[in-house]
Order: sequence, then C-alpha cells, then structure tokens
Amino acid sequence: MPLTVRQFACLSDNYGFLIRDEETGVAACIDTPDAEAILREADAAGWRISFILNTHWHLDHAGGNARVKEATGAVIIGPPEVTKIAPLDRAVADGDTVTLGATRLKVMDVGGHTSGHIAYHDQANAMAFVGDTLFAMGCGRLFEGSPEQMWASLQRLAGLPDETTVYCAHEYTAANARFALSVDSDPAVRARADQVFAMRERGEPTVPTTIGAERATNPFLRAPLLRPALEPARAFAEVRAAKDVFQG
Ligand code: ZN
Ligand code: FE
Repeated sequence: MPLTVRQFACLSDNYGFLIRDEETGVAACIDTPDAEAILREADAAGWRISFILNTHWHLDHAGGNARVKEATGAVIIGPPEVTKIAPLDRAVADGDTVTLGATRLKVMDVGGHTSGHIAYHDQANAMAFVGDTLFAMGCGRLFEGSPEQMWASLQRLAGLPDETTVYCAHEYTAANARFALSVDSDPAVRARADQVFAMRERGEPTVPTTIGAERATNPFLRAPLLRPALEPARAFAEVRAAKDVFQG
C-alpha cells in the first residue's frame, strides 16, 4: 500500500517529513526539527501523528520530540542516543521493523554522522528516510563516527535499488554540487549540478533524490573512482576531508 509523504522546509535548511500509510491512515513524522511547523503541517493535512521516527540525536532532528508528543500523544521511536537530549519511548536498532499501519519500515544502522544514526527503509514502496547520512550530491559530516563506519553506512544505502526515493533532511544540494564539480569532471555531475542550480534559482527543493542519481553523481559514493589509488574507505576519507575545508 502506498505511503504518502508530505515534505516541508523548516528552520534554516531542514526538511520535515510527515508520512501516512494510506491503507490505515496511520501517520508519523520523521524527526522533529521544528515542532510547531510539524503540528501546523499535520493540521493542514488533517493527519493525526501517531509516531515520531527519529534518525539521530541532533537538536534539529529530535529537539521537537517533547512538544510533538505533548500535542499529539505520539509514540517516539528512534536510536538509544536520542535520550541524550530528548524523550524516547522505544529504542530500535539495525534489522528492527517499525510498523506504520500496513507499512513496514526496516531500520538500517547508518552510523557515522553520529555513532547511532539510523535510517528507515520502506522496501515495498522503495523509499528511504536517511536523516543526515546521505544528502543529494553529499553526505553528513563525521561528528562521531570514523570514515570506515561512514563509508560502510553509505555503501549500505548505495546497495538499495536505484529507483529508491531518498528523503534527506537538509537542502544542501547547491553547495554539495559546487564541491562535486571541484573534484569530479564526469559529465553527469556537470549536468546534475546545472539542474540543481536552476532548481534552486526557481526556489524548488532538490530533495528527494534517488539512489540511482546518487550513485551516478555523488562524489562521496564515487570516491573510489575519484581516488583510484586508494583503498575505498581511505578514498572516501580523503574526499570527505576535502569537503570539510572546501570554500565554495
Ligand atoms: Zn545531524
Ligand atoms: Fe541535521
């Protein structure tokens, strides 16, 4: 059964997502970047939020947990690390399944940006909610994990089917595209970057993306091709380090 996604911009560059299982009407929010924006959006849609699904503990992802729960009675599901800053009702880990009505979301360990970061994958509908792990033409900074851990996480996401729709938590794509152009001369990267710049000029979101588009143009997934002399995780570490200091 279809899963409907309502995506909205909030804070300075976050995306909020409300999702609803169409068979049962059960709805959830992915993370809580901005509680009031989430409650407004749910109200406008006429959806009742039954679950909060956290990806990681950062304030722009779990900071609104208490307020959204207070307003809706939602059950909060996420990785144990969320309790560092916010309430959590049910801790989940890699391989667990979260049931949203008739929709089943598989929990994937994608640590690296934070050590306990998780993603939610709806295999039947080919959708993934990846938080701050994989971005359109980018990836999250390594605040807690090692390059090896992040590379393994990115490989797991890249292993999903190409047609998988990827919902990333930030609109960073124009800056990511500028960096990609500085390290990758592939024509597909140039073409996508131009498309991204044009979309942003028109004020359009570049999220969601797809696994196929990221495999073709994301410099972090392409790191082993860009640094062929290096072992893959090492190649990734170099490209990530270059992005950390890139002045685009
Ligand atoms: Zn984060
Ligand atoms: Fe974030």
